[in-house]
Amino acid sequence: LKEKLIRKGKYIWELPKETIEGQRVPVILYLSDALFELLEEDALRQAANAATLPGVEKAIYVMPDVHVGYGFPVGGVMATNTETGIISPGSIGYDINCGVRLIATNLKAVDVAPRIKEIMNNMLKNVPAGVGSTSEIKLSKSQMKEVLVKGAGWAVEHGFGFPEDLQHIEGFGALPNADPEKASHEAYERGSDELGTVGSGNHFVEVQAVEQIYEPEIAEKLGIWEGQVMVMVHSGSRGFGHQVCTDYLRVALKVRDKYKIKLPDPQLACMPFNSPEGQAYFKAMNAAANYAFANRQILGFKAANTVRKTLGISWEEFGYRLIYDHAHNIGKVEKHEVDGKKVEVIVHRKGATRAFPPYNPEVPPAYREVGQPVIIPGDMGRASFLLVGQTNSMKMSFGTACHGAGRVMSRRQAKKYVKEVGLEKVIGNLVVVARGKGTIMEEIPQAYKDVTEVVRVIDELGIAKAVARLKPLGTLKG
Ligand code: 5GP
Ligand code: MN
Ligand code: MN
Repeated sequence: LKEKLIRKGKYIWELPKETIEGQRVPVILYLSDALFELLEEDALRQAANAATLPGVEKAIYVMPDVHVGYGFPVGGVMATNTETGIISPGSIGYDINCGVRLIATNLKAVDVAPRIKEIMNNMLKNVPAGVGSTSEIKLSKSQMKEVLVKGAGWAVEHGFGFPEDLQHIEGFGALPNADPEKASHEAYERGSDELGTVGSGNHFVEVQAVEQIYEPEIAEKLGIWEGQVMVMVHSGSRGFGHQVCTDYLRVALKVRDKYKIKLPDPQLACMPFNSPEGQAYFKAMNAAANYAFANRQILGFKAANTVRKTLGISWEEFGYRLIYDHAHNIGKVEKHEVDGKKVEVIVHRKGATRAFPPYNPEVPPAYREVGQPVIIPGDMGRASFLLVGQTNSMKMSFGTACHGAGRVMSRRQAKKYVKEVGLEKVIGNLVVVARGKGTIMEEIPQAYKDVTEVVRVIDELGIAKAVARLKPLGTLKG
C-alpha cells in the first residue's frame, strides 16, 4: 500500500478512500521524509483496515511516531459516529489510559544533578517497578470500586498529592461514564495490588531538566524555565485495564455476527457504540481510565517525595506543581466538525494525545490562553518535549497530536543490538535504574525514533507548538 500513498504536502500523505475493499474514508499520515522511510507497510495496512469499520468519520489519522500495534497502529486516531459507529477495544489499546504526567519543581538541575544517583537508587526502593511488581496499597473490592469512579481524586483523598492537582489532569482525573460493575472478577483480582506501581519496560519515572525553551512567553505562563528540574511519569491502568481489554475483545468477537460487522482483521473486533455490549465496554474502559489516573497520581507524588526526601527539603522548597497529566490510549466522546457539521463521535486515540487549542473549555483556566499542555516522552537518553495544543489539531486530527518517539526496534532487536555492541557503549553514562538489566536493553534510546524529528512535524503542521525540550537526568524503568 505504501506506493499508493499520495503526497499532499510537505508532511502530509494520503491513502485515498476505496484503495482497499470497503475503505470508507481516506487515511491521512503526517510524516517527514525521514519518518516516511520508517513507515511500516503493516502499520499502514492496519490504518486502512480501520477505515472500513462502520461509522468511521472523515479520515483515519496517523501520527509521525506511528508503528504497528494490536489491530490498529500505535500513533493512530479514529473517530466513529456515536449513533451509527462502532467502538473498538484494540483501537484504544490494551493499556487503557496509558499516559504521562509532568511535575514542575523550584529546583535547579545544577544542584540536583550531583545527587542524581542517590535519588534514583531511592526511587528504585520507593517506587515499585517491573513486571509483576506489587504495591503496598491493597484494595478490597469496595475500595477498588471507589478508585474506579473517583480516579485521581481517590488518591488525593488518601494523601497522595494535593487537591489543586486535579485541575491539571485530563477530565480532572475522573472520567464520567465509569461503571465498576462492568469489569470482571479477574480485572478486580489483577488490580487489587497494583495501584501506585510503574509496570513493565516502556513505563518509567524520570527526573529531567529543562534544557531549552522555544517559546519564552508560553513557558512563563506555564511556569517553566531553563535549568529547572521536572519529574515525568509514564504508566497506565496495569493489569486491570489489560483485563478489561481482553474481556471485551472476546465479547466483540462473539457479537460480530449478531451485528453483521465485517472485520478485515479479528484484532479489530468491535461493537456498535450504541449497543449493550458497546456501552458495557465503554463504561468498563472509563473505569480503567480512572484507575490509571489514580495510579499516576500516586506515582507522581511518590516520585516527587523521593526527590524531596533525598535532598532533605520541605515541600515549599521543592515547589511541587503539576503541569499536566493526560492519556495517550483512550476513547473519548467529543463533538467535531465533519463536512461543515458538528458530529458527535468517539475519538479513539491509541498512542496519540489530545491536543486541544487555546480557549477550548476542556483546557484548564490557567492554560486557557496557551492551549492544553501536550507531554511527549522521547527516550531515556536524548530528550522529551512539552508542547501546547494549537488550532490546526481540530481540523487535522480530531484535536490530537503524537504521543512519543515511537519504536523503531522491536524488543528482541534491541536486545540483540545491545549484545552486539555492549551495554556500556550503548547507554554510556546515563543514570538508569531497574530491577533487571533486560528491560534496559529493550529500552535503549536507539530502540526509538528521534523524538525531535517527530515533534518538529507536529509543530510545523500547527497541531501543537513545542515549548520546551527536557533532558533526562535519571530514569527508573519498569
Ligand atoms: P508507549 O506508550 O508507546 O509505550 O511509549 C510512549 C513513548 O515513551 C515511546 O514512544 C517513547 O518515545 C517514550 N519512552 C519510552 N521509554 C522512555 C524513557 O525511558 N524515557 C523517556 N523520556 N521516554 C521514553
Ligand atoms: Mn502503557
Ligand atoms: Mn504509554
